[in-house]
Amino acid sequence: MPSHLPTLWLHRGRERSLKRHHPWVFSGAVARVDGAPGPGDTVDLRSADGELLARAAFSPHSQIRARVWTFVDEPVDEGLIARRLAAAVAARGGPAAGAPDAAACRLVYAESDGLPGVIVDRYADTLVVQLLTAGAEHWRATIAGLLPGVTGVQRVWERSDVEVRSLEGLEPRVGPLAGDPPPPRLEIREGRVRLWVDVHHGHKTGAYLDQRHNRARIGELANGRRVLDAFCYAGGFTVHALAGGAASVLAIDGSAEALAMARANLELNGLAAERCELAEGNVFEVLRGLRDRGSSFDLIVLDPPKFAATASQRQGAARGYKDINLLAFKLLAPGGVLATFSCSGAVSGELFQSIVAGAALDAGVEAQVVERLGQAADHPVLLSFPEAEYLKGMVCRVGRG
Ligand code: SAH
Repeated sequence: MPSHLPTLWLHRGRERSLKRHHPWVFSGAVARVDGAPGPGDTVDLRSADGELLARAAFSPHSQIRARVWTFVDEPVDEGLIARRLAAAVAARGGPAAGAPDAAACRLVYAESDGLPGVIVDRYADTLVVQLLTAGAEHWRATIAGLLPGVTGVQRVWERSDVEVRSLEGLEPRVGPLAGDPPPPRLEIREGRVRLWVDVHHGHKTGAYLDQRHNRARIGELANGRRVLDAFCYAGGFTVHALAGGAASVLAIDGSAEALAMARANLELNGLAAERCELAEGNVFEVLRGLRDRGSSFDLIVLDPPKFAATASQRQGAARGYKDINLLAFKLLAPGGVLATFSCSGAVSGELFQSIVAGAALDAGVEAQVVERLGQAADHPVLLSFPEAEYLKGMVCRVGRG
């Protein structure tokens, strides 16, 4: 069907990934641009033979030159954005008012929900939005206008202060999209515990929602155990472990603000401070110090930040993962459990497992994988877009020696 949209013509053969519904077109695949699309404008994507493959958002400054809104011949308009938002919210159980466990969740996960570059997280009565791409930016006012109606949540705050926006030629943006600004701290429920979230300054949109179920799982594994929570941030794993009956927790993070929030989270849950020590320091150094002093733990959580953002950083990342996992294995008592995570998309599950295997070998322990953990179900992965999967976790039990 003819359309009046600007058109990206692809090189011959470069239509293949689009035919498999992968939503990205890289700059090298584009042979010619007809018309003069601006950043975020909707363009037609056509094969060398002229076949209409998809409609997409144009990103002139990014190597990912276009991101698909739709693979069918339909208008990309407010109606499409509204349908996508509504479908994403419905998939998380509908407007979540009254469902306490859903008081914090990811409502929209970008490509996985057919809305490239759009993240919407809900924290109690507040939505926090990240617009990461030119296409998402283009629809800012539409998205802001639709969200209260679709979700039943009136307050919408933007936290588009992320590095990736610079690849799209976009400035950081923080501020209200609807309603009044959120208070300095919001209280959310997460399983059996309550947590503070600072949506103004917290990491990501305020918290690591992707680890929600894994934190609860650690709570189940912690009973009676001496726990080490490395890279604890606001103490999510720590609070769950203590609520689950941990004998003690040592929580480590490099950020004083994160530890202040962790302390507030302990207080919020009325958890005895004497069972928990919060230590500020570099995890690599603190773990070495603990090893040198002969310390030992029964359950260790390693949840480091992203060590590799791109494939070129993979080797350095592998060294980092190897170091901390090796130290953790050395610190585990016989029969102890290591819950180890990687959120580096550039490190595959297979590579991560082989790094952890190498760490166990060098530490001189035999360990079994007893459970695999991943990102929460509200961070789904389209089969046609495996890049959306980034969080890998393994629960490993070491032998009794
Ligand atoms: N486990 C947390 C999320 C951890 S995010 C949760 O479930 O909420 C990673 C954390 O590691 C951040 O808080 C960051 O401050 C901290 N960090 C990064 N590098 C570090 C290092 N070398 N030593 C100590 N902390 C570090």
